[in-house]
Amino acid sequence: MKDIFCRIIDGEIPCNKVYEDDDVLAILDISQTTKGHTLVMPKHHCESLLSCPADILNKVMAVAQRIGQAEVSVLGAKGVNILTNCGEMAGQTVPHFHVHVIPRYLGGEGGFRLTMTEQDTSKMNLPVLAKQISEGIK
Ligand code: 5GP
Repeated sequence: MKDIFCRIIDGEIPCNKVYEDDDVLAILDISQTTKGHTLVMPKHHCESLLSCPADILNKVMAVAQRIGQAEVSVLGAKGVNILTNCGEMAGQTVPHFHVHVIPRYLGGEGGFRLTMTEQDTSKMNLPVLAKQISEGIK
């Protein structure tokens, strides 16, 4: 079954379109975390940033950058959070890669905090951890 964003891309479900080209669609998020909260996604289905081909990823991120710039210049945002969740365990609820572009305004809560409890780094071997990840990069 098609995910909700594939259905929006195919025109089966309405959206508030912010930007479109051959490869990328950007729409307002149905739940506006702040005024102007936008989702940028590839038209070709891929599940998350982790499985997105690099050339498409570059196009999606370039559009996210331009939308963030517009939120500053047009909406008067004083900052922008640009983020993406990869996988259910990371909070991804729609299994179609998308980047959140969230304008931040004066008087807002400010910052962006992960609500997870921070790990005790004194119990970790950070050089070994860095090496482990480094050796896993393909
Ligand atoms: P995630 O939790 O996967 O990172 O983000 C999914 C986002 O998609 C949520 O912020 C949610 O509000 C938004 N969303 C879910 N369904 C729809 C929809 O039908 N239309 C639009 N525009 N946004 C949606």
